[in-house]
Amino acid sequence: MKRAERTVSDSKLVPGLEIRSLFPFFTEGPAGCYLDSAATTQKPAVVLDTLRNVLVHHNANVHRGAYRLSAEASELYDQARTKIARMIGAKSERSIVFVRGATEAINLVAHSSEQLFRPGDTILLTLLEHHSNIVPWQLLAKRRGLSVAFTDITDDGQIDLNDFREKLKTLKPKMVAVTQLANSLGTVTPIAELVSLAKASGAQVLVDGAQGVTHLGVNVESLGCDYYVFSGHKVYGPTGIGVLYGRAERLEALEPFQGGGDMISYVSTEGSGWAEVPQRFEAGTPAFPEAIALGAAVDFLARFDRDDILAHEAALVSEAYEMLSEEEGVTLYGPGAHSGKQLAVVSFSIDSVHPHDFATIADTHNIQVRAGNHCAMPTLRRLGVQATVRLSFGLYSCSADLSAVRSAIREARKLFK
Ligand code: PMP
Repeated sequence: MKRAERTVSDSKLVPGLEIRSLFPFFTEGPAGCYLDSAATTQKPAVVLDTLRNVLVHHNANVHRGAYRLSAEASELYDQARTKIARMIGAKSERSIVFVRGATEAINLVAHSSEQLFRPGDTILLTLLEHHSNIVPWQLLAKRRGLSVAFTDITDDGQIDLNDFREKLKTLKPKMVAVTQLANSLGTVTPIAELVSLAKASGAQVLVDGAQGVTHLGVNVESLGCDYYVFSGHKVYGPTGIGVLYGRAERLEALEPFQGGGDMISYVSTEGSGWAEVPQRFEAGTPAFPEAIALGAAVDFLARFDRDDILAHEAALVSEAYEMLSEEEGVTLYGPGAHSGKQLAVVSFSIDSVHPHDFATIADTHNIQVRAGNHCAMPTLRRLGVQATVRLSFGLYSCSADLSAVRSAIREARKLFK
């Protein structure tokens, strides 16, 4: 790995304006006030370089060829798995399954664990979940005659812990699936408590870490969850690659998700046997350049102190709250900056301006914000709102982005008076 290694030194980095020089989006690309990192993050040069480097210098299919190039690609792919295992505190790289993203990871678990459920069993979710952590379970419920229940949230978008306890007791769910950080509101859930309560009640637990892994980090072993999922593209890596972490004994008990090359121990005309985990769940040619580039994103992220990332993203939430609460006609949703339970995301609406209209006006100033239901229709419905404007932050976000949003709000309010 020549070129990529040259572009990265080992020095520590601090989130903020200065690191924009490491992201070609800001130096060669549209350089927008990019406030949609919860949807996807911009990529540091080292990730783009790694992708190119693999495709130019190490491009051969993995785990197949007897020649050197294939062995090299396979080694890099395996190294990426090890980096990811280390980043999330997994005991073994055998617990790391490469998938396309968080969505595919949840679908994989919902499909492959099907035989563990009996008709009438319950799956417990929360009203904070992204559609990806709802619909796969609803599909499973339909196939197996199960029920899907939802833990309520409070008016400020936090999980109602009493309701959670009550539902664990009365419904005795087989599976609990819950987010670590809600993409719609930025709510930081009390994930350790939720996992430990759910485990004590006998449920298996899947944690949706699509946002959490980027903004909060995780140690899956001390968290004690059965599954943890995330997408590469939200953690400064490429699209098309994501991770399912599963405790070894859980993965061993799952049926394969898809069949094909690489996931078998043998194939005969009478039937087939399965490869060991994690290969059992990686049918077909994997997105190995993307996986290796995700490994580069993991290295990149490791150059920041987690406390600096937390402080940076919490400060931006505070600043946004302060600014937005001074603007006339703005309603904010979520726990709020002072709760200490909201990170990296701020959701709001503006009287008389539809969120989509606001996003369009903002776009004319090269400000990218998300408007709509953020793939969390049950959350927004519970809060009595159909759509919000969402600002979401990354390592490169800064105060100037927020000032630009303030000007756009004032312009929008004038236009829609
Ligand atoms: N869960 C959460 C909390 C998310 O924010 C997202 C993406 N917005 C997903 C799941 C799904 O991720 P992907 O579309 O990358 O599979």
